[in-house]
Amino acid sequence: MEFQESPVVPEMLDGRKIIRFECRKGISCWNACCSNIDIALTPYDILRLKEKLGITSSQFLEAYTYPYEMEKDGMAGVKLKPVENGTACRFMREEGCSVYSDRPTACRYYPIALLSMRKQDEYVDTTSYALVKEGHCLGHFEPREISIDEYRNEQGIPEYDEAARGWRQLVLKKKSSGPAIGKPSKRSLQLFFMTCYDIDRFRDFVSSASFNALYIIPDEERQSFNEDENLLQFGFRFLRQVFFGEESIAVRNEAAEERRKKVHDRRTRLEKEAAEQMARSEEGLYDDI
Ligand code: SF4
Ligand code: SF4
Repeated sequence: MEFQESPVVPEMLDGRKIIRFECRKGISCWNACCSNIDIALTPYDILRLKEKLGITSSQFLEAYTYPYEMEKDGMAGVKLKPVENGTACRFMREEGCSVYSDRPTACRYYPIALLSMRKQDEYVDTTSYALVKEGHCLGHFEPREISIDEYRNEQGIPEYDEAARGWRQLVLKKKSSGPAIGKPSKRSLQLFFMTCYDIDRFRDFVSSASFNALYIIPDEERQSFNEDENLLQFGFRFLRQVFFGEESIAVRNEAAEERRKKVHDRRTRLEKEAAEQMARSEEGLYDDI
C-alpha cells in the first residue's frame, strides 16, 4: 500500500520560530492554494463572512458550507463548499480573494497549522504550530524571514483566535472527556450546531418563551446580544452549562426542577420500554424450543 506523504512538517514549533515565507501578488503560484480547498470554519469565521456578504447565518450555511463530523458520533463542524463540480473556493477571483478582509482563520494561518492540545477535564489549552509545505506553494522560496508570532499579527489572527477560543475549548474538552460524559444526544448536537454556527437562529432561540422560562438573563446582558460577537461568547457559556453542567447562567428553580423531572420521567419510560422489549425477545427465543 502506498502512503501519501503529509505536507505537514513533523516538528512542533512555538511562536518565536522564524520561518521563511512570503505570499505576494505576482508570484507564479498565485491562487494555487485557493484552487483545491478543504477549509474548516470557526464560528467567528461565519460571523465575519455572513456580515461581509450581507446575509443571515442560515443563508450562509445553506449556500456556502457543508457539515462534517469533527469526531465520530460527536460535534459537527462546518467546511466551505467549493464551486459546483470543482474544488476551487467560491471566493477566488483572478485578482485574489474577494472576501480578503474577512477571510477565514485557516486561510490566514496558511502555511502554518495550529495545534491545540489540552489535558483531560481542563479548559486551558496549550498552543503550538507546525509548518505546512505543499509542492505547489512557492512562498517558501521567497527570501523573507518572519517569526510565527509576527506572521500571526500580520494576518490579523489574534482577533480571530480570541473570538473562537471558547469554541475550540469546548470541542477539545468534549473530545478528551471521552466515554465518561457519554454519547451526546441528537438534541444536544443540534443545539451545539445552532449555537456555534447559526447565530441568527440562536438569537431567536434566546428570545423564545421556552428559553426564558428556564434562564434568567439580566437586561443589560440581553442588550449586548445585539452584537453577534457578544451573543456568540454567551453561546459558548450556554453550551458549557448544557454539556458539562458548569452553571454560569442563572436558572429559574421551579422551571429547572420541572425539566429535571421531565428528563427523569422520560429516562424511566425508555428504560421500562427497553426492559419490556428485552423480555419479549427472550420469550421469542423459547418459542422455537
Ligand atoms: S476564502 Fe479567500 S483566501 Fe480562503 S480559500 Fe477562498 S479565496 Fe482563498
Ligand atoms: S505562495 Fe502559497 S499561499 Fe501564496 S498564492 Fe502561492 S500557493 Fe497560495
